[in-house]
Amino acid sequence: MKRQEIHVLAPATVANVCCGFDMLGFCLNGIGDIMHLKRVDQPGIRITSINGFDLPLEVRKNVAGMAALAMYDALQPQGGFEISLDKKIKPGSGIGSSAASAAGAVYGINKLLGEPCSKEELTGFAIKGEAVASQCEHADNLAPALFGGMTLVKSISPVQVLKIPIPEELVACVLHPHITINTAEARALLPAQVSLENTITQSGHLASLIHGMHTNNYDLISDSLTDVIVEPHRSKLIPNFSEIKSQALKAGALGCGISGSGPSIFALCRGMEIAQLVSKSMAAALVNASFTFDLYTAPINLQGCQPINQTK
Ligand code: ADP
Repeated sequence: MKRQEIHVLAPATVANVCCGFDMLGFCLNGIGDIMHLKRVDQPGIRITSINGFDLPLEVRKNVAGMAALAMYDALQPQGGFEISLDKKIKPGSGIGSSAASAAGAVYGINKLLGEPCSKEELTGFAIKGEAVASQCEHADNLAPALFGGMTLVKSISPVQVLKIPIPEELVACVLHPHITINTAEARALLPAQVSLENTITQSGHLASLIHGMHTNNYDLISDSLTDVIVEPHRSKLIPNFSEIKSQALKAGALGCGISGSGPSIFALCRGMEIAQLVSKSMAAALVNASFTFDLYTAPINLQGCQPINQTK
């Protein structure tokens, strides 16, 4: 018998990963939204409640609603769906708050319908939801939220997602400063054109990062976590960015960069021991800052969205 109700853990994600702007992302453990989805007789999609942050209940203004609607319109199932959100990931944090909602919505509906859609198809529906937040279609946060691990979005039309293997000892640190950067504004800062020299440098880094991930080559991963195109522009929006990054690298991080469009900053490390030191050093760089921040340190989440047991 098909389920009538499901609770989904929709994880936070890091997009871009230095050299893979709009393409690369990985999935985080330890932080995610909880979404409750219910199959009901009344046709259509409804968002019945949102806890945690002030976000629109209106379906077409909420990324979860728009993603669900895109899927609903395409599949035209009997009846409808009610969605309620326990938001834990702050919108605009740069760790895929909107993507978690879009991914969780289509993941949950797919489960309730008996899994008629592939993850690529789900990504396609979720992209329609993400466009509500950033006014453009991209899947660099959605793909890792749905597939888990690290993903490379080769194309969004048609959706082509490659899963990149994760070396066993890889651990992520994420520092989330409590300041706001809007994705659309962060995009507007980027240059319309990029030099041939920077394109070649960045392509080399992306290719070698993927090779390093496939071959467990931590030195190559470290050497490739560089961004010559986006970081020079966007880092200006993040107070203390260079200090945080240099402290992370000094403490032994393989690499460090802006998570998505910021303000969160991520570091990748070899092993939990180094990751703990890196986290401490990143925090120490903010000892005199006028804002507070959160820190997460955890291995990469290999599963992405997943059902959880919960009584509401
Ligand atoms: P993030 O990288 O953290 O997802 P974005 O700037 O991409 O940040 O997305 C946040 C924007 O999306 C905010 O303007 C927010 O109001 C809007 N939004 C709409 N629905 C949701 C949702 N369900 N979850 C998070 N943000 C949402």
